[in-house]
Amino acid sequence: MSALLLSGKSVLVTGSTSGIGLGIATQFAKAGATLMVHGLEGEDQVAPLLAKLRSFSSPKVSYTQADISSEAGCSKLVSETVSKLGNKLDILVNNAGIQYTARTEDYPSERWDAVMRINLTAPFLLSKAVLPGMYDRGWGRLVHIGSAHSMRGSVNKSAYCASKHGVLGMSRAIALECAGTGVTSNTICPGFAETPLVLKQVDKLAEERGISKEAAKNLFLLDKHPTAEFVKPENLGAFAVFLSSEAGGQVNGAALSMDVGWTTR
Ligand code: NAD
Repeated sequence: MSALLLSGKSVLVTGSTSGIGLGIATQFAKAGATLMVHGLEGEDQVAPLLAKLRSFSSPKVSYTQADISSEAGCSKLVSETVSKLGNKLDILVNNAGIQYTARTEDYPSERWDAVMRINLTAPFLLSKAVLPGMYDRGWGRLVHIGSAHSMRGSVNKSAYCASKHGVLGMSRAIALECAGTGVTSNTICPGFAETPLVLKQVDKLAEERGISKEAAKNLFLLDKHPTAEFVKPENLGAFAVFLSSEAGGQVNGAALSMDVGWTTR
C-alpha cells in the first residue's frame, strides 16, 4: 500500500488511545492522513502515544478528549475535530466501544444503557453530524467497527450483540441513503483482538476455571476462532485505510469480516 495513500484526507478515529483504535490510527498516520486521535484520557497522559504517531507520515496529529456517552460529548468531539483539522472531516472511523458481560436476567439496566450509548448511539450521532459536510464536498467515508457479534450471538453478551447488530443495520441504511454521493458506509466485523476489552474477559475465565491466563486465552479463542490466533489491530487498520482509499470507493453497505474464520461456522 502506498505510504501516502490518504494524503490530503482528514480522519477521526474514535477511541484511538488503545487497542484496535490505536492500530487503526497508526495505519492512517502511515497512509499520510491528517489525524484526530480521541479518547477519555487527558492530553498529557497520551503525549508519548501522540509523539509516536507524529513520527509516521501524517502532516498533523491532534487529540481531543471527549466522553461520547452523551450527545454533548459527541458534539464537542465533532466541532473540535473539524476546527483542528482544517474545517473538514473526510473520514470517520466509529471505533470506540465497551463490553459488559452478564446473563440477561442479571444484566444491570444502567450497563445496558451505557453499552448502547457508546457502541450504537454515539456512532449514529457522529455520523449524523459529519454526513452533511461529506455530502457538500461529494466525498466521504464512514467506517464502523462492528464485530463478529454484528452477525452472531454469544451468552452473557445481549447488550453488546444488540449494539453491534445495530451498528451494522445503521451502516447498511446509511449506505443506501448515500449511494451515488461519493460517500460510503461500511462495517468491519473483527473477531477477537488482544486488547484490554478482551483481556478482561480472559482474566475472568481464568479466575472462574482456576486455570492460567495462557490456558484461558486458548480456551477463549478456540471457542470461536478455528485457530487460537488473535486478529491484529494493524490488519484492521489496513482494512480501514483500504475502505477509505479511492480503490475502496465501490464498497458500500458491506459487512466485512476479519475474524480468523469465526463466522464461517
Ligand atoms: P479498548 O478497550 O482497548 O479501547 C476502547 C477505546 O474506546 C479506548 O480508546 C477508550 O478510551 C474509548 N472509549 C471507551 N468508552 C468511551 C467513552 N465513553 N467515550 C469516549 N471514548 C471511549 O477496546 P478495543 O478492544 O480496542 O475495542 C475497540 C472497538 O472494537 C470496540 O467498538 C469493540 O467493540 C470492537 N471490537 C473489539 C474486539 C476485540 O476482540 N477486542 C472484537 C470485535 C470488535
